Amino acid sequence: MGCGGDAGTSIQNEVTDHEGIAAPEPLIRFGLNWDEYSADSGTVASGQSLSHLLGGAGVSSNTLFELVAAAEPVYDVRRIRADRPYWILSTEADSIQQPEWFIYQSSGREYIRFHLMDSLFAEADRFPVDTVTHRLTGTITQSLSADLERLGAPFTLALSMANVYAWTVDFSRLQEGDTFDVLYERELVNGDPVGMPRVIACHFTHNGRVIPAYRYDQGNGHDYFDDTGASLRKAFLKAPVEFSRISSRYNLKRFHPVLNRVKAHLGTDYAAPHGTPILAVGDGVVTKSGYTSGNGNYVKLRHNSTYETQYLHMSKRAVRVGESVRQGQVIGYVGATGLATGPHVCFRFWKNGKQVDHLREEFPPSEPIEAAHAADFEATVKTLKAELEGS
Ligand SMILES: [Zn+2]
Repeated sequence: MGCGGDAGTSIQNEVTDHEGIAAPEPLIRFGLNWDEYSADSGTVASGQSLSHLLGGAGVSSNTLFELVAAAEPVYDVRRIRADRPYWILSTEADSIQQPEWFIYQSSGREYIRFHLMDSLFAEADRFPVDTVTHRLTGTITQSLSADLERLGAPFTLALSMANVYAWTVDFSRLQEGDTFDVLYERELVNGDPVGMPRVIACHFTHNGRVIPAYRYDQGNGHDYFDDTGASLRKAFLKAPVEFSRISSRYNLKRFHPVLNRVKAHLGTDYAAPHGTPILAVGDGVVTKSGYTSGNGNYVKLRHNSTYETQYLHMSKRAVRVGESVRQGQVIGYVGATGLATGPHVCFRFWKNGKQVDHLREEFPPSEPIEAAHAADFEATVKTLKAELEGS
């Protein structure tokens, strides 16, 4: 068991009588007046249990047995794990060190205090959390995470930013020269960051277009909005063709009319007259535009890191691979090319690389700022803008 370290250091307070000089504040750690104890600290070794840790400090096995039972409603000591720090605080009586507290840090944010004398009990508590705000400005030269690290920011900020912009910017296709100006916060416990960095506001410039994001809570959690109060999350169009009817739903055991056998139908068919425009259901990038004997003329779009869609049997395609498309843009026209009995568009939907029935998917809401919050939101945006634009 190592002694002290900065974690267990006790500070000798010098009390002075001089007027105007106050006695130093007592050192409070883990909710205890640290100055009243001598502290020993260590790290739980592999295979060490509470009895190993406390037996060595002179706590009797009877006391241990009672402590485990008394602590159980608060903390099951079998959950004590290797590599976690702990402290033993002792008081001195008749020149004998008597352990009074055992403190186990169960996570970056929480610890358990076990009382070892007189009444035996355990209390769970949380460290005070400091929130610090940072502002960072940068230009994409390689990838967002590499550029963040180069600037001394946590690379995990890239994940937070990618989440904020999941529906508007494809972070795997950033351009050299794209820029960002981000205001983010981190939680610190004992001076160390815990959890993911959180974006407060960001101005991301992609392909020369500034895409602002401001965090705001309308009462059901934080969400991100542009400066007009529109959600950065976008809903998909319900169908890729207007005035159509569903002629076949997503079905894992459909009898295929052309192949004359059972074949899963991993899409939804919308019957519509030949030549009807087919619309992109959301903003995205064209990843495929081609012809196969089964699909006929088809187009595939990637909308964000989660969703992709595909449109089959077109009479004609209207977009090329690599092109960016906006929601509602015409990407082709209804036809019956490939394995099709009549004019329709077979619409396919991928979520995280797996085909799903989009009619059964629950999409995140994309509600704009409500009228009741409009004035407060505007004031928030004004403040955040000033913080981002200040130097
Ligand atoms: Zn189909």
